[in-house]
Formats: sequence, C-alpha cells, structure tokens
Amino acid sequence: MARIVQKYGGTSVADVERIRCVAARVKKCHDAGNDVVVVVSARSGVTNELIGKARYLNPAPNDREMDMLLAVGEQETIALTAMAIHAMGTPAVSRTGAQAGILTDPAHTRARIVSINADNIEAALRDRNVVIVAGFQGVNAEGQITTLGRGGSDLSAIAVASAVKADLCQIFTDVDGVYTADPRVVPDARKIPEVSYDEMLELASMGSKVMQARAVEFAKKFGVVFEVRSSFNENPGTIVKEEIASMEDVVVRGVAVDKNQVKVTVSNISDQPGTASRVFQALAEAEVNVDMIVQNVGRGGRANLTFTVPRDEAGRAKKAVETALATIGGGSVDVTNEVAKLSVVGVGMRTHSGVASTLFTSLAEKNVNIQLISTSEIKISVAIDLDRADEAVRAVHEAFGLGSGEGDRP
Ligand code: ASP
Ligand code: MG
Repeated sequence: MARIVQKYGGTSVADVERIRCVAARVKKCHDAGNDVVVVVSARSGVTNELIGKARYLNPAPNDREMDMLLAVGEQETIALTAMAIHAMGTPAVSRTGAQAGILTDPAHTRARIVSINADNIEAALRDRNVVIVAGFQGVNAEGQITTLGRGGSDLSAIAVASAVKADLCQIFTDVDGVYTADPRVVPDARKIPEVSYDEMLELASMGSKVMQARAVEFAKKFGVVFEVRSSFNENPGTIVKEEIASMEDVVVRGVAVDKNQVKVTVSNISDQPGTASRVFQALAEAEVNVDMIVQNVGRGGRANLTFTVPRDEAGRAKKAVETALATIGGGSVDVTNEVAKLSVVGVGMRTHSGVASTLFTSLAEKNVNIQLISTSEIKISVAIDLDRADEAVRAVHEAFGLGSGEGDRP
C-alpha cells in the first residue's frame, strides 16, 4: 500500500465524460489499497471564461473579488469528481483549498503557499476516503480565499504531496510526458524517461509548457519526486527528480523553443557608466521580463543594446525605454523584430565540451542566422528568425542525436 497524490489538469476533467474517466482511474488506484489524494483543476476553458466575464464588467476587477470568482472553477470540479466516484461505490470527499488546510500569504491572485495543515486530509484518509482537493486555491490568515496564479493547481498538487508525505505524485495531463522536442514539430522526438528538476525548469519555462515553473521549483526545494503523464492512456510518463550522476552522461536532454519573444534594439545611446543601468531600471519598474542581452561596443562614444522580451510586454518595454532615453542623452528604440528563442538543455553540458560548436554548426548548415546568444550552466540559447524556428529545432535535435529514428509514441 502506498500513498499517492494524483493531479488532473483542465483537459483531463474537461467535461462529465472525462470526469467519469478520472473517477474510474482514481477508483482503480484506491481499490489497489492505496491512500489516494486527488488534486483537480477547473474544467479547461472555465478559468479563462470567468476572467472574460470579470473583465467585461470591469476592466480592472478587484483582486479579492477575482479570487472569489476564480476559485469557483475548481470547486465545480471537486464536487463533480466526488459524485462520480461515489457513483462507482467508492467513498470520497471533496475539500476546498481552505478545508484542505492550504494557508497562503495575503497576495490575492498570485498568493504563495505558507503552510499546509494536513490534519483534515489525514482524517478523511483514515476513514478510507479518496480526498479530492481543489487546486489553485488557498486561504489567507484573514480567512479570505486566495488563488496561486495561472497553472497553480500544479503547485497545489506538489505542495499537498509534500504535506502528506506521499510516496508518489502523478501529474496527469494531455501529453505523455516531457519530450526531447515538441513532437508536433519534430516527428522523431522521444519521451524522456527521467529528467532532473533543473532540466525540467529550463524545458518547462520555454515552449514545452508542461507544468507551472513555480510548482517545479517547489518540488525541487522540498524533494518531491513526481511523474508527468497522460490521463488519456496508460503509458508511463516522465519522472522528475533530483539529479543523479548518470544524468550527466547525456549531453543534451532536449531542445526547447519559445516563439513568444520580441527583439528590442536600443541604438545610439551614450557609452557611459550608468546608461544600461537606467534603461534596465526603467524596464524593471515597468515589470518587463528582459531575457537575452547583448551590448555592442560603440563608436564615437555611442553604443547599441539589444535584448528580448515577451511579445505581450513589447509595448510596455518600448515606452519604458523611451522615457529612460530622454533622461540619458537620447538614442532610439526599435521593437519590430519577432524572434524565436531556441535552447538546448542538459546537465551533461557541465562535463562535456563542444555543445556550443555542435549547436552553431547545425544552424549554420541550415543557413539560420544567430542574432543573440546566452548561456547558463545547463543551457545554451540562441535568438533566431521566428519563421526558421521549426526547421532549426529539427536540425538541432538531429545534430545532438536526440531522435529515436522510429519514434516511440503510440
Ligand atoms: N484553473 C487554473 C488556471 O487555469 C489553475 C490550473 O488549471 O492549474 O490557471
Ligand atoms: Mg495546468
């Protein structure tokens, strides 16, 4: 007998038929003698629909009321899931975030989990209930409902798994696991059996949007091993865990692409101490997430700065830089260039050489121009033309020998 936390995302509980499938899977796990805690998202589309309604009535809805509203999505799912399990003759009880003891800080719409008092869950498990917890929500010290930010039910699941000391945490979603590249773009992409937290973070925060990054960070911090797998079949998924030595044998674990980046070029700025500081301070104040940065040495006391920002922050970035430029002796800013950020990720890079050269050579062979480069210990990223991205990822995937040849997908 084991203690298992299963999380089902929005597409896994999209309608009553899907909820029935989830109930059957949960029942099977419970029948095998396990303690089962289930964490569910809202049905897919529901959270967006609620946000749409709120914005229709008020372009800047109050954060407390927003949480009051958004928590409804998950509350619908926990009750329906419990009812579906009851109909199969298995005892189950639903819990809102507050009832499950999930205490958060006061920050409405982006709360952090402070602690989980699992007494209530434990008591229900002792009575052999399946416990169904609403993801994405908690309660603050004042008793107000809070939510954890988009995709937050992943975080709920990991945190609950840690609190109840689960033997296994399964994140059920609509993909079979984490792949060496997006299988829709790279036909021979392979499912990765095991990946380290750090690799998962790099792969998940770009393109392969399998899981909320905060949830992975939490799992890393508290050592929660979890599996990402599909609720639509029985295939084993990808295990995400602490790095082990043999993980370094593979140089590159996967190739990720982020197609939501825009290149910002700030030209003809004064080449003096403090210029970059002013520009990036203005961007920080405007809450723009700056990514890859390059500065070119100037001529005649002038310089150019280039960096990337998420596409939907480009307008804000331009305004912020323009304001800053006015106070530091002028210059111009251009944000027209849409780019893709392609990254190769792997802990093996720390101990193998030649990764950059393989990457750059494979792009050169396809005549893909590299516009910006950035590196970290386990990642090399390049900004390239958006419309060359798919071709580039296929070439890079092949250059690192990541393909299976035949593909191991069903
Ligand atoms: N329902 C929430 C969202 O759509 C939380 C989640 O699904 O993880 O962001
Ligand atoms: Mg999700």
